[in-house]
Amino acid sequence: MDNHPKSDLADQLSAAWSDLSALQVLEAAFEHFGGDNLALVSSFGAESAVLLSLAARINPDQKIIFLETGFHFDETTRYAKQLIERLGLTGVAPMSVDPITRKRLDPNQRLHQIDPDRCCHIRKVEVLDRALQGLSGWISGQKRYQNETRAGVELVEFDAERDCFKVNPLAHWTGRRIEAYFQRHNLPRHPLIASGYGSVGCWPCTTPLRAGETSREGRWRGQGKTECGLHRPVIKLQGRVG
Ligand code: SF4
Repeated sequence: MDNHPKSDLADQLSAAWSDLSALQVLEAAFEHFGGDNLALVSSFGAESAVLLSLAARINPDQKIIFLETGFHFDETTRYAKQLIERLGLTGVAPMSVDPITRKRLDPNQRLHQIDPDRCCHIRKVEVLDRALQGLSGWISGQKRYQNETRAGVELVEFDAERDCFKVNPLAHWTGRRIEAYFQRHNLPRHPLIASGYGSVGCWPCTTPLRAGETSREGRWRGQGKTECGLHRPVIKLQGRVG
C-alpha cells in the first residue's frame, strides 16, 4: 500500500531541495506553500536568531509564532525584543493558553513540577495546534545535531496528526555552522549563553550545562524528558488524504 500522499510530497520536496541553502529552502517553501500559509515558530532561544535572520532576509513581515508559556526568563523576553527590533520583524505573534483554561488545569502554576508533559501540552502543544489551524504548515529551527531524537529530522516533514507540513531549513546544520552564521551576521547572543546555558526554554525546566554536556542536556534535567512535544514523530500513514 502507498504512503500518505502528503507524506510522499514531503519526501519529494526534501529530495528536491536537498542541495539548496537554508535561505533557498525557505524561499522555496514560501513559494510552494505560500508565505501566508506558513508560520515560523520561534522560542527566541539560544540559536533562534539564525532562522529569524534568514526569514527576515526574505520577508520581515513573515508570521512568527512565539509560544508565551508564562515561564520565560526575563532575559528571553528582553532578547526577543532586541531581535525583533534588530531584524525588523513585524509579524511576531505571542500566543498562550487562555487564562481560564490555565487556571482550571494548573491553578497553582506548579504543573511543571508534577507532570511536565502535561504542562508542555497545555502551554505549548495545544497552543501551537490552535495557531496552525487553517495553515499549510510551519517552519522550525530543528537541527539533526541537537540530540538523538532529532537525528532523523528531514527538510520537509508531514505531521499527520496536525495535517500540516513542517519545514526544517536548518536540519543539516551543525553547531559550528550556526556559530559561523552568528559571527558573519553579527547577531546578538541570548544573554544566558554567557551564564553557561545551552538550549534555553522555560526557567523552571532549564539549567546551565555541566562540563561535556551537549546543548539540550540542561533541559528537564533528571526528568527523563528531552522534548516538549511540539515536534511529533513523523509517521508514514497509509491511505488517502482525509
Ligand atoms: S518547559 Fe517546563 S514550564 Fe515550560 S511548558 Fe514545559 S513543563 Fe511547563
